[in-house]
Amino acid sequence: MTYQVLARAWRPQRFEEILGQEAVVQTLRNALASGTLGHAYLFSGLRGVGKTTAARLLAKAVNCAEGPTPDPCGHCVSCREIADGSSLDAVEIDGATHTKVDEVRDLQELLRFHPTRDRFRVVIVDEVHMLSKAAFNALLKSIEEPPPYVLWVFATTERHKVPATILSRCQQLEFRPVATERIASRLLEIAGHDGFELAASAAESIARAAEGSVRDALSLLDQLRAFGADKVDDEAVAAVLGVPRFEVIVELVEALAEGRAAAGLSVLRRELEAGRDAALLYREVGRVLRAAVHCALDASLELSLTEDQRGRLQPLAERLGVDALTRMLGLWADQEPVVRDAGNRELALEVAALRLARWPAVRRLEQLLFGAPGGTVPPAGELHSGRVPGAGGAAGADDPRSRLAAVLWEGQPRLASAVEQSEVSLEPDALVLRFAAGAKALTAFAGSPASLKGLEAAGAAAFGGARGVRVEGGEAAGEAEADAVGHAALADPGLELARRVLGGEIVAVRPDPDAT
Ligand SMILES: [Zn+2]
Repeated sequence: MTYQVLARAWRPQRFEEILGQEAVVQTLRNALASGTLGHAYLFSGLRGVGKTTAARLLAKAVNCAEGPTPDPCGHCVSCREIADGSSLDAVEIDGATHTKVDEVRDLQELLRFHPTRDRFRVVIVDEVHMLSKAAFNALLKSIEEPPPYVLWVFATTERHKVPATILSRCQQLEFRPVATERIASRLLEIAGHDGFELAASAAESIARAAEGSVRDALSLLDQLRAFGADKVDDEAVAAVLGVPRFEVIVELVEALAEGRAAAGLSVLRRELEAGRDAALLYREVGRVLRAAVHCALDASLELSLTEDQRGRLQPLAERLGVDALTRMLGLWADQEPVVRDAGNRELALEVAALRLARWPAVRRLEQLLFGAPGGTVPPAGELHSGRVPGAGGAAGADDPRSRLAAVLWEGQPRLASAVEQSEVSLEPDALVLRFAAGAKALTAFAGSPASLKGLEAAGAAAFGGARGVRVEGGEAAGEAEADAVGHAALADPGLELARRVLGGEIVAVRPDPDAT
């Protein structure tokens, strides 16, 4: 037995079987049941959502030996001939290939005569928007004064290209894109019926890639079965469809949200090198961000994730919070036309990713300009690691550096930022701050008597008990000139503002050679 493609094997035989088009189906059924069918219909909508199938069912419904009926029998000669395309009374023409006026004239000639056997001559014109203007004009006559035995069904994926003169003479029915979860569950149903293995997450990925088109989903599933025989899982989907694994996209979003641009770009490059499509990657990042917003708001809102995926995304969602995620989703969505229309999509995607990675800095700038809620500016370090102030229990909140800095951010931001650039350890006799060898100015600043006093107090508040503070590293910490310049520089509010806005680090402070 030869393999029959799924779209054909599973073509709906009844109106109810057309997936996700309940409103259209109801309208047609009512018209058939009450005998109020129009003489011309225009079915518009995405490819592969059931327009042609509905048109053929309509032809059967009006010509069935047991009709007209909303439930054509499917067995009589009329029904069978319409199904296999041999009916003389149900004519299908393709607007894309029959654009000549002569052919439309032939059609008009045909329409002058009564149907040979059936009640109606049904003319189905697929992709009607492709017909030439002259062909449209020739058609118009037959639509304006149709013989009572003619039923027109026009189908189009681009309704806006159909002339108004045609539109105004048709009853218009719009076919909707089919929801991902409905396509996925249809795929699982088919797998169950046909006896092959289909992972639920793979069904989801296929349905998403089909973007609302049932036919596209079925032909993708055909491809996957040809690839993986009787087992269609995430690996097969990734290999055949080029859909990146959810895990990978979450890793990318996590990196960008935390401002780790290099890590984000390396994930992107890996995926692009593996042959993933830039536009698809863009969409998947948007999808994960959107799912994360849903998870942060209310986990029950997000229905498109499997349990595993939700388990992976939920902690990230909670850590970043609704506000930050919503802004990030907005930033990402703004890049859509840029990525879509770019000559070099891969480059546009990288730029979009870099912009998103600047998000923590943008947020800091906003907070400095407009003020943070409650009058305090959340520490740069917290934003940098994507943590939300006050979101207790977040990873890393318990290390001595974070605890000490958290106390200092209330009132001594410069000292807090110095602490964040050091390694802090809590030793039995003292609280120790270690700076990198080059960070002379910072070391000098932290080691000054005023700073040490502040650090001692903060240490007591953060860890309880009084203990001394020791500042290490920075080598020439005692060098008088560096010390003086460093103090002055670090006390400069402009420098501090720039550092926090831009997320930089003060490596060294040098005297200005031109200063008088
Ligand atoms: Zn029939």
